[in-house]
Amino acid sequence: MKAVVKTKRAKGLSLVKVPNPVIGPREVLIKVNNASICGTDVHIYDWTRWAQQRLSPPRILGHEFVGTVAEVGEEVTVVKVGDCVSAESHLTCGHCYQCNNGNAEVCRNFKLLGVDHDGTFAEFFVLPEHVLWKNSPDIPLEWATIQEPFGNAVDTVMVEDVAAKTVLILGAGPIGLFAAGIAHACGASLVIVSDPNDYRLAISKKMGAHAAVNPRKEDVVGLVMEATKNIGVDVVLEFSGNNQALNQGLKVITPGGRISILGIYERRVNIDLNKDVIFKKVRIYGITGRKIFSTWYKTSRFLSTGMVDPGPVITHRFPLKDYEKGMKLMKDGKCGKVILTVSP
Ligand code: NAD
Ligand code: ZN
Repeated sequence: MKAVVKTKRAKGLSLVKVPNPVIGPREVLIKVNNASICGTDVHIYDWTRWAQQRLSPPRILGHEFVGTVAEVGEEVTVVKVGDCVSAESHLTCGHCYQCNNGNAEVCRNFKLLGVDHDGTFAEFFVLPEHVLWKNSPDIPLEWATIQEPFGNAVDTVMVEDVAAKTVLILGAGPIGLFAAGIAHACGASLVIVSDPNDYRLAISKKMGAHAAVNPRKEDVVGLVMEATKNIGVDVVLEFSGNNQALNQGLKVITPGGRISILGIYERRVNIDLNKDVIFKKVRIYGITGRKIFSTWYKTSRFLSTGMVDPGPVITHRFPLKDYEKGMKLMKDGKCGKVILTVSP
């Protein structure tokens, strides 16, 4: 079969022919219909410091997908050949302290699909059945492809309620854009999105943002304070991984408000903990992965009912062989989600 593989410890990827994978008794062979590109895949492409420490080639990339069950192991009970599936990309162990206490998203032994386990940029790949998610037939295939990053946004927005609250979203990458749609659907009274990328700010408006701010051209703190009549926002959602943006968020959060942080920072961050967090009684939530599987149920409901239309965020589609075009677009930022079609 054909697959996009990190073949060596250097920049770039290769489209190569590899043997079809073989399944074990509790495993499932999945034929990939679509796979989407995540920032993690770009890090691996670029062979950043993080990738060098984290990944051992050869590895087939990709962890976001929609596919069809092609074969099941003899002990598999929950899916059958022909089912339309996606999956949790954190391949959890199911027996550690965290897994046993309802915190499987921080499983101590999890393997990451497309990083520690061959991934979705291939015609076929294998998963243990316990991470599979059967897709609702009411969700279009393209939308089903992006449920994994959509789930990140669901948890970042919904860790506390946002109804009738004011929300600032920092970073309008695909996940921040999904969050704008989710916050709007959950009844936020004001959603402001900040990003230096005007292409992405325009998409945020389509996702339900009331206002879009470019921090390179405008005063984010001043505009947010004005829009909230000097109260500040109840909720900040941090998706930029940028220290300056984080500080803007902490400045405009109203005392007693909350911030959820999904963005990942290249370096240690510098914040005024006393002034901007402790004496303001701000609640900080670190968000990682998705709740397994409660977040998937919410995601499925948002998408199957049309409560959130992720369509504007899905901006480009390429056949798998043109993965380089997708990687380039992601690096230039002139895109939302990029989908690679494998077996449409
Ligand atoms: P992305 O890189 O596409 O989006 C980040 C956005 O932040 C970009 O549009 C960029 O222009 C914007 N940005 C940069 N500087 C900014 C500033 N000063 N102010 C406002 N915006 C700024 O990423 P994504 O795929 O949407 O993911 C969002 C973040 O979440 C990333 O940092 C990613 O690494 C992280 N992430 C975390 C998890 C987790 O489990 N914690 C999972 C997936 C992604
Ligand atoms: Zn575990």
